[in-house]
Amino acid sequence: MDLVEFQGKQLFARNGVPVPPPGDIARTVEEAVTSAERILGGGTSAVVVKAQVKVGGRGKAGGVRLARSVEEAREAAEAILGLDIKGHEVRVLYMEPASDIVEEYYLSVMHDRVNKGDLIICSRQGGVDIEEVNRTDPDAVVKRQVVPSERVDGLSRTVALEIVTQADLPVEVRESAADLLVALFGAYLAEDATLAEINPLIRTPDDRVVALDAKVSLDENAAFRHGELAEWRIDGIDGDDPLETRAREQGMQYVKLDGDVGVLGNGAGLVMATLDVVAQNGGRAANFLDVGGGASAESMAASLKLVLSDPAVKSVFINIFGGITRGEDVARGVLGALEQLGEFPQQLIVRLDGTNAEEGRRILEEAAHPSIIPAPTMQEAAALAVASARSAA
Ligand code: GDP
Ligand code: MN
Repeated sequence: MDLVEFQGKQLFARNGVPVPPPGDIARTVEEAVTSAERILGGGTSAVVVKAQVKVGGRGKAGGVRLARSVEEAREAAEAILGLDIKGHEVRVLYMEPASDIVEEYYLSVMHDRVNKGDLIICSRQGGVDIEEVNRTDPDAVVKRQVVPSERVDGLSRTVALEIVTQADLPVEVRESAADLLVALFGAYLAEDATLAEINPLIRTPDDRVVALDAKVSLDENAAFRHGELAEWRIDGIDGDDPLETRAREQGMQYVKLDGDVGVLGNGAGLVMATLDVVAQNGGRAANFLDVGGGASAESMAASLKLVLSDPAVKSVFINIFGGITRGEDVARGVLGALEQLGEFPQQLIVRLDGTNAEEGRRILEEAAHPSIIPAPTMQEAAALAVASARSAA
């Protein structure tokens, strides 16, 4: 998941990457004014008012403004709140004590899908679009592949110094930039980031280097190692589907789509195949939920409840392949879930396969529950689910 700037700076700070003095979050003009009073009252000559959206190029879009008085800060907040930056409405501002800039550089660590490794990128030309620099003046952009041992031992100071030297950072800031790079690389590893980008990395009048901007993406597959990942979600910025949020909280994989057939399956591959057969039968999935390995009555009930609470769902296709979980347990799980759920208008089309599937189907047939239509194959189940959604619509 992508962090907004102020979160990225928090993450940098706790990993020893120098950032400007801490600022405040403001969601209203009044909060911005209160913050500006605090910051300007503390002896800082200016405050930067910065849009917190998950896209770059905020400066160019008018989403970053320097204010030298409380009144200017109020005007800046009024101008930036509600601004549309590349389709993202600004609802949150970061108010930061302004930094004095002598020069702007570029520094990042990122996962490189093509080479299946990590890359450190450094340039003396920062504060601008680095891809543009790379196109027009590739020699100005130093790229160094991280070697596997560095993922274990960290980046040595010697190597960091080589990188910033090769990028031609001025000699006065090389030592501190090398220290910063070692810390940035440490942050990237410790936080399971896939991107940690500083653009610009600034040189201050007293020759320090400071991360003036922060663009950080965290690997959600490593979320289990970071209990606080959910805390990074903030109101007004993460416009996630509320059901997706609920699913995540319950440890389920749920994705909202825009059709009308709810899809519930076990295992990512089977769920993907289910979406395909629904499409082949002329239907569209409203969502999909991967119930994972088990299919107990409890997990089935929780999953079904989630899928059914999407008002777009007109029928539900339950597609379970029994492996360790046996067919009869799945069937009992589905029936148990229905007992817990009470009445609902949608038909559930259930296809069971794999271990003891026949036994599971027999249990479903015998129960003859009015909401359940057992289907022997994936094809037939998909056709039934699409037809059922259509007649319910
Ligand atoms: P981006 O446009 O989304 O990448 O936002 P940045 O945080 O990188 O800010 C854009 C530009 O605004 C920077 O390159 C700086 O030139 C300028 N800027 C941001 N913060 C400050 C600050 O504290 N002081 C000064 N003087 N300029 C700033
Ligand atoms: Mn930037």
